[in-house]
Amino acid sequence: MSINQDEWFIEAYDGISAFGLKFSEKLYEAQSPFQKIEIFETPAMGRVLILDGCFMVAQKDTFIYHEMLIHPAMNLLANPRKALVIGGGDGGAVTELVKYKYLEEITLCEIDEMVTSSCRIYFPEVSRGLDDTRAIAAFEDGAAFVARHSNHFDAVFVDSTDPVGPGKALYEVTFYQSIKNSLRPGGIAVFQTESPIFMSDVFSETVEKLKSVFGNDRAIPYLAVIPSYPGAMWSFTMCFNGDRKPCIDMASGNENVPASLNYYNSKVHSAAFSLPEFVKNLARIVD
Ligand code: SAM
Repeated sequence: MSINQDEWFIEAYDGISAFGLKFSEKLYEAQSPFQKIEIFETPAMGRVLILDGCFMVAQKDTFIYHEMLIHPAMNLLANPRKALVIGGGDGGAVTELVKYKYLEEITLCEIDEMVTSSCRIYFPEVSRGLDDTRAIAAFEDGAAFVARHSNHFDAVFVDSTDPVGPGKALYEVTFYQSIKNSLRPGGIAVFQTESPIFMSDVFSETVEKLKSVFGNDRAIPYLAVIPSYPGAMWSFTMCFNGDRKPCIDMASGNENVPASLNYYNSKVHSAAFSLPEFVKNLARIVD
């Protein structure tokens, strides 16, 4: 089947593989001080947000990513009051966090204000959490922002782009140390840690760096399937700031789990942390 480039958006990975979607309309294009922003309407996955040629948000599967970034940690925390999202300018992570009524402060630190302003227009259902009175938006480099906070947050979520451009700062050990310092005792940080299939080196190196900062058994990967991301299998790594060995098993039927979810539940939680052998090997995890 031939592809008419005028009707398809195609993201290439390392120039040797690709994922593409036919689009019906290009809704938006702009060059921000940090990246190229494009938004398309596609029959297969609804509206999609593209940053510098990479899929970031697809209406059809973004709920999986945002629910799996936020809810596993939120359901292991006793009574978190202050949460921080670094990156995440589409607002999807904040929209999941506002479902926890006991949260008092939800800060979004996104370097590119144009990402947020365009997502408010074209992805209102994803970004609507930004309208919550508890949501605070800081438009600056997340590494500099978090370095100014210590012993402040109960939960930090790093919803970054790949380790290129402004995203590179969010893959450095100094950044991970700042995150740890910004957490209160018993706090949890969750990082999106890329594809174990297409970015196995980045995944492996990132988990190692997180272990070096949080401790060997305090940086625990888990998985979800995000069809619009490279290789579909996607990883997150949950890190614990505390001297107690973390328990990732969630009390079944935890009353904190918001009722309105479409992907996450207690069985999905347990399955996500049950890692395939090749992922355990990449993360140097020995049961
Ligand atoms: N879910 C997507 C993924 O896994 O690739 C990430 C989505 S979100 C749109 C990524 C955001 O990180 C972008 O809006 C980008 O501007 C932001 N970002 C990149 N580097 C940053 C930095 N140093 N500080 C704060 N935000 C940053």
